Amino acid sequence: GQKRWTALKFGPLALVAYLVPAFGRDGRDVTLIIASSYFSVGMGVLVGEAMSWVTSRLRAAEEVNAGRLESMEALLDTSTVLALQLEDSGVADLVAGMGGSVLDGESAVVFVTDPAGGFVGIGSWSWPTDAMPARYLRLAPGESQLMERGLAVGESVRLAGEDIPRCLRPASCREVLATPLRGAVEPFGFIVVLFAEQREVDSFLLQLARAFALQAGLSIERAWARQSLLDAAVRDELTGLGNRRHATALLGNLQPGDAVAMLDLDHFKTVNDLQGHQAGDETLAALGEFLRETLRDHDSAARYGGEEFLLVFRGAGEHGDLAAERLRQGWRRVCEGPSFSIGVAVHEGSATPAETLARADAALYRAKTGGRDRVCFHQDAGDV
Ligand code: GH3
Ligand code: MG
Ligand code: MG
Repeated sequence: GQKRWTALKFGPLALVAYLVPAFGRDGRDVTLIIASSYFSVGMGVLVGEAMSWVTSRLRAAEEVNAGRLESMEALLDTSTVLALQLEDSGVADLVAGMGGSVLDGESAVVFVTDPAGGFVGIGSWSWPTDAMPARYLRLAPGESQLMERGLAVGESVRLAGEDIPRCLRPASCREVLATPLRGAVEPFGFIVVLFAEQREVDSFLLQLARAFALQAGLSIERAWARQSLLDAAVRDELTGLGNRRHATALLGNLQPGDAVAMLDLDHFKTVNDLQGHQAGDETLAALGEFLRETLRDHDSAARYGGEEFLLVFRGAGEHGDLAAERLRQGWRRVCEGPSFSIGVAVHEGSATPAETLARADAALYRAKTGGRDRVCFHQDAGDV
């Protein structure tokens, strides 16, 4: 159980102790004692050292096993958490955190391939707060050829010294392990784990990294796919605005004081009739782009149907018609095609969304009958 070299250090002491009985004797006894002391002490030291060598190896192996067990447990926990992770937002930070702890690193960053070439950071864990946030990290094409090669063959790459990309150096790491994140079809990025110390990268660590990266890659891809399905379910393809389903959701979330507007293109049928359906579609797409660019962040627009759009000006109240008028004038400046008319109504606490919509519709009717290319505010006396 002693440390190595302990038996050797105590060897001379043992020799002295062995030789003590020889004092005061003479002749054959002394020769015998001296001869047996060399043999016994030598054997003692040899056996002692051999045993302490074996125990130290066993202890080291035990430590390695305990570390591996911990890593395996972390990997198991990871699979449960990643399997339940459906949200797109935060999935990259989660993957970085789990990768960092499974592989016992100092910090970690998730990179994905940039369609323009190279890699971009999308999430991090334990990244220095005074360094550039992960989402601004960029690896230019050719900046890390080792990583590019690793991605091509789907293998982990170790980077040290000069090979560590410049943007990762603020983390002052000695070594980096970059493992490709695999999607269902092909690798699309890396989980990059940074180590403060030089790390023995054995086959176990590589296998662990690969197993983790497979789960992580699939869960990132699944979160993305789910998000894009959710987006598609409420987006109108032609205009890029919300669709009818989104309009229904907007109406369902109305708060008292929100201004609801119905926008309808004027004489749109003649655009189709005179210039063709394609030109009509282009006008609708241009209007979609105009509304997306012009509306304030907390206001929303959805295509209610055909050439009619529902707008919600959050909390605009009585000023809703001013916001609508700004839109009308802005559209006149950018579009030589058809103008639009808007009817506006304020959502009152006592009304249902359907009633508010009907009032906005009534105001729109007045804008149309009043000559089009105008905004009308709902007045209970004038509108039915
Ligand atoms: P008003 O000023 O009274 O609103 O006249 P309008 O011609 O705009 O109204 P109307 O309801 O008579 O016609 C709406 C037209 O919008 C008819 C339809 O062909 C066209 N439209 C609806 N959806 C689309 C679309 O997705 N693409 C194209 N190109 N046209 C569409
Ligand atoms: Mg119309
Ligand atoms: Mg219409």
